[in-house]
Amino acid sequence: MALAGDALICVDFDDTLVTNQEHFAQAERQLADLLRDTCGADTTAALHAFRRIDARHQHLGRHRNRFLVTVLAAYCAVRGSDAVPLELLPRLAAIAAHPYDARPEPKPGAVHALERLRAAHPGPLWLVTAGDRVIQTGRVHHSGLASFFDAVHVVPEKTEAVFTELGRGHARRVMIGNSPRSDILPALAAGFDALYVRVPTWLLDLAPLPAAVSEFESFAAAVDGVLGL
Ligand SMILES: [Mg+2]
Repeated sequence: MALAGDALICVDFDDTLVTNQEHFAQAERQLADLLRDTCGADTTAALHAFRRIDARHQHLGRHRNRFLVTVLAAYCAVRGSDAVPLELLPRLAAIAAHPYDARPEPKPGAVHALERLRAAHPGPLWLVTAGDRVIQTGRVHHSGLASFFDAVHVVPEKTEAVFTELGRGHARRVMIGNSPRSDILPALAAGFDALYVRVPTWLLDLAPLPAAVSEFESFAAAVDGVLGL
């Protein structure tokens, strides 16, 4: 895929460029440990309950308060009570805050790949990420990656309409990301080429992909694909 110099290249943030799912997995393990220690809950059953409730809260979007509500609801469900003990609230709140407050570290090879892409491609390079505007803007800033991009777009959800608007006026447009549901399918629907980075993502972001979608094992490999290497 050798791109014209004026092609628009959009890149996802979480788990494509920086570690994110590992922080959510860590929070789930901390919740399971707390349930084991405070009410003897089986760890596997606790994780299963958490994921069932997480799926039930999907309609609440990606705001950090959705995750807090999920953590509290999962604690209550496993404990079999309808209220969180007041003395545990700070620990549960800290568990729920961790994925949002942890520093987003660039994944191995991501910075070098961005340097190569920036050096080889003169056209617009945009970061496109979904979530709360204030939180995501801060996380992008703290990642140290913002300076690679001509623009950072934080949107509530990445939909076909969002990609259609982003791509307006760009004859050739490309999206690189690790979420089938948020990065690949809506971008394809809006006329983008989409490069799928096959790394773990939120379970609720998984979806079947068309066979023709190009898959890469890392962002660096996807950059090689974009540059036609
Ligand atoms: Mg992602």
